[in-house]
Amino acid sequence: MDRKKIVIAIDGHSSCGKSTLAKSLARNLGYTYIDSGAMYRAVTLFALRNGWITDGRPDKDKIISALSEIKINFKWDGINEKNVTFLNGEDVEEEIRRLEVSQNVSPVSTIPEVRHEMVKQQRENGKRKGIVMDGRDIGTVVFPDAELKIFMTASPEIRARRRFMELTEKGDTVDFKEILQNVNERDTIDSERKTSPLKKADDAIELDNSFLTREEQLSWTLNKVKEIIG
Ligand code: C5P
Repeated sequence: MDRKKIVIAIDGHSSCGKSTLAKSLARNLGYTYIDSGAMYRAVTLFALRNGWITDGRPDKDKIISALSEIKINFKWDGINEKNVTFLNGEDVEEEIRRLEVSQNVSPVSTIPEVRHEMVKQQRENGKRKGIVMDGRDIGTVVFPDAELKIFMTASPEIRARRRFMELTEKGDTVDFKEILQNVNERDTIDSERKTSPLKKADDAIELDNSFLTREEQLSWTLNKVKEIIG
């Protein structure tokens, strides 16, 4: 008999390992993984390329009127074991992770019309169940009925250190202080915005992973899943 399929929502602060956990969970359970942050990053990249963000201020009207032209898809790259983000058919996975996008994504994500469009697309993906989605508002707004909600966090310094290592390993030249500043700024904007701010859903379980290995986080979460699906 097929096991019951559920929706797993993983929310939390920037760079706290949500996508790493979400990906390994999805692989383990045979579920689909959707990185909702990549969608906001792709919209931001589109706006940057068009020159619609000046000194961190997005031109809301231009972005809103272009929303129907922005198509975002994901493909699983089985060889490199990673999810690849496509913006209007172009592989933008590397580009959306750059610091310039990270520095501009939170202001773009505060635009209610952008959120509305992204949430619509995210819900489409959740209809079939068997999905792990990570972000900021998945358990509170996108899937308030998700069977399992996890709220992840870790100290800002630990999160900045992880991001620094990740970008350095890719060959990017980055400054630790600048990354820490970006992590703190995104926390503030994400938590204080009017539309769907980052907050723990009442029924979410908190996972502080400051001192947990990836394996420990995965087995902790798989135990929670087993309690639900048996
Ligand atoms: O998850 P990631 O750090 O890649 O997300 C990038 C940014 O996108 C976040 O800092 C946040 O501003 C925005 N975001 C959001 N809602 C989500 C996912 C991401 O506002 N569900």
